[in-house]
Amino acid sequence: MEKRELKLDYWVYTKTYPVEYREICEKAVEATGRSYSIYSGFSVGAAVLLDSGEVFTGANQENVAYPSGLCAERTVLFYVGANRPDVAIKAMAIAACYRGELTADYISPCGACRQVMAEVIKRYGKDFDVILIGNQETILLKASALLPFAFDF
Ligand SMILES: [Zn+2]
Repeated sequence: MEKRELKLDYWVYTKTYPVEYREICEKAVEATGRSYSIYSGFSVGAAVLLDSGEVFTGANQENVAYPSGLCAERTVLFYVGANRPDVAIKAMAIAACYRGELTADYISPCGACRQVMAEVIKRYGKDFDVILIGNQETILLKASALLPFAFDF
């Protein structure tokens, strides 16, 4: 038997965004306004920056027949996969508002979104940065750090 250790690096920005990702951070916050979240009141926005420099956004879409809706992260990842299939993702920013106010704490993607991100890494053979936006602290880390031991075969 051998004990192994998993190390996770991440960066914390207090009341500011990583300067190179300011645009997608602002667009993720802006995208919360396009959320369809009449049931939870929890509006999530996500913005991705592609290697081409293009930026796309997504917002959570709820449905009365829960769980037929979809998270902000997957709306934009699937959109990009369908419309820019040959361009890898450089970074993704995620923000959330509850009843119109940016959440104090940053939010992190659900397990299903993390698995989709793992597939994006596999698909393009390249990791990407993820920025988790909060009103107080914003976190920057690698997508691969969000789901160690992701499902694969
Ligand atoms: Zn999710």
